[in-house]
Amino acid sequence: MKTFTYSRATTVEDALAALGEPGTRLMAGGTEMVNWLKEGIEQPDRLVDITALPLTGIATDSGLRVGALTTMSELLDRTTVDYPVLAESLLRAASPQLRNMATVGGNLQQRTRCPYFRSDTKVPCNKREPGSGCSALAGDTSGQAIFGWSEHCVATHPSDLAVALAALDASIEVRGPRGERTIPATEFHLLPGDHPERHTALEPDELIVAVHVPAPAPRSHYLKVRERVSYEFAVVSAAAVVSLDGTVIDAARIALGGVAHRPWRLTAAESALRGVSVNDKEAIAQAIAESFVDAKPLADNGYKVTLAQRAAVRALMTAGGAR
Ligand SMILES: Cc1cc2nc3c(=O)[nH]c(=O)nc-3n(C[C@H](O)[C@H](O)[C@H](O)COP(=O)(O)OP(=O)(O)OC[C@H]3O[C@@H](n4cnc5c(N)ncnc54)[C@H](O)[C@@H]3O)c2cc1C
Ligand code: SF4
Repeated sequence: MKTFTYSRATTVEDALAALGEPGTRLMAGGTEMVNWLKEGIEQPDRLVDITALPLTGIATDSGLRVGALTTMSELLDRTTVDYPVLAESLLRAASPQLRNMATVGGNLQQRTRCPYFRSDTKVPCNKREPGSGCSALAGDTSGQAIFGWSEHCVATHPSDLAVALAALDASIEVRGPRGERTIPATEFHLLPGDHPERHTALEPDELIVAVHVPAPAPRSHYLKVRERVSYEFAVVSAAAVVSLDGTVIDAARIALGGVAHRPWRLTAAESALRGVSVNDKEAIAQAIAESFVDAKPLADNGYKVTLAQRAAVRALMTAGGAR
């Protein structure tokens, strides 16, 4: 492991000043960063601990303003009643011990679980070393993307929370030397394109300050399909938020996880679902299929096309309390 200095920032201004120096990386709960240091994914000159910054706490007005250093456990406790989709995405992520350390900001900044990206021995990976190639494309594509991938990278993003936030139309407040700006949750994670080494829309000199979640969404649900029942990343997941007029769908928002390098909103399906009964499984499945006409499965992951559609149908019907 490369030698680096460690310091603690106590103000946002100090953290931003440190970030302005090349070779600086931030650490919050450390549940990702410590692994990256051991695996050589990150090799900073300076590591700045930001856990003393005043970015904790959850404020409530018409929605929620969640400080970036709020732990996943704290957010889970606060959202069980008003935002089931958020609480369920957190409850099904990692383990209680990890959730007690891991922060909301760090969760959004976590990196792909592509096994080639995480490999102990270095293998070609454009995300890790631009221009080196993509081992997944010529190897095992079973866990990779079916939407939005490029010939340079086919990885998916692993955050469960990000998928729930995308369905809720949440936004990420960030601060940098040029001031503050807000990034929609649906645009925070970047598709690989020609530059898979860029993971999110956060600039290297910016800090996540908070996450804004709009009005409560009591009719919502997060469904996570994984290879074992706990302590496992999603093969595919679906977050659904619905409002009903009786049993008829007035508006629906659905985001999928495990299918792209960003939460994948099913916008065509969302339009087609308006006016459909929440109990009509066949009509719901037909509407959701409209968002899969541009799915591009790879050699080993055609199963995700069917699995993701079924997950979306079930998440939506559960959110709407279908009989
Ligand atoms: C075994 C294991 C299982 C897991 N399972 C799941 C799962 O099922 N679902 C899931 O969603 N996640 C899962 N995770 C990921 C986990 O949620 C993340 O590791 C955690 O949320 C990262 O938060 P942290 O505070 O520890 O970040 P750190 O490790 O401290 O930092 C991670 C990255 O975020 C950056 N960062 C942190 N805070 C900020 C900020 N405020 N502004 C800008 N950058 C920031 C750091 O610079 C670093 O690049 C798992 C992790 C492990 C180790
Ligand atoms: S899919 Fe992306 S992360 Fe995985 S090996 Fe290819 S370039 Fe690397």
